Amino acid sequence: MDLLPVFDILLKSYGQRYWWPAETAFEMMVGAILTQNTAWTNVEKAIAGFGDRLYPEYVAEADSAELAEIIRSTGYFNQKVIKLKALTAWFAGYDYDVEQARQVDGETLRRELLSVRGVGPETADSILLYALDKPFFIIDTYTRRILYRLGYDIPKSYDELRLMIESRIPQDIYLYQEFHALIVEHAKRHCKKKPVCSECPLEKRCRKRIE
Ligand code: SF4
Repeated sequence: MDLLPVFDILLKSYGQRYWWPAETAFEMMVGAILTQNTAWTNVEKAIAGFGDRLYPEYVAEADSAELAEIIRSTGYFNQKVIKLKALTAWFAGYDYDVEQARQVDGETLRRELLSVRGVGPETADSILLYALDKPFFIIDTYTRRILYRLGYDIPKSYDELRLMIESRIPQDIYLYQEFHALIVEHAKRHCKKKPVCSECPLEKRCRKRIE
């Protein structure tokens, strides 16, 4: 089954999502760490808590306890402080200049990000796609759940599924960014853990493999 019609239906149903919700590339990167294992509303509280301090020099130099206090709402805050500092140290290698980082090819950036403490494939691909404009498709539990229910054979490994999706759609930043955001929206509105299939825009194409 082709994936583009799925994208078209979701886009028509929910409209453009304008992701990622961040004012700067660095704010996006911080959000990608903070959103691990927590709801986005908790991330919003933490982002607001930074006030005008949401820039890399502050995160690099801030006292860990002070930083932990700011991001407390996101849970696992002591670990996340370590992760934020590690990611910021990686960004320092590009003089905190996102344009400089964007000059580097995506595979190299991905390898670098995956070597940063606390950055797994989902976080790395989020940063690559939304902060660094590199086309890597993000795999999360929503993506797995929806595609499985629709009827796709889902490989176990993160990268196998990513490559499978990437081979079925054009390599296009806008498409990848919007598609991921639409998947998240669809998982929240209809394809929840306990799905709401009535009036689901994908119902006609769905094999409803619900477990
Ligand atoms: S029909 Fe049901 S299972 Fe299929 S995508 Fe829609 S909500 Fe999910």
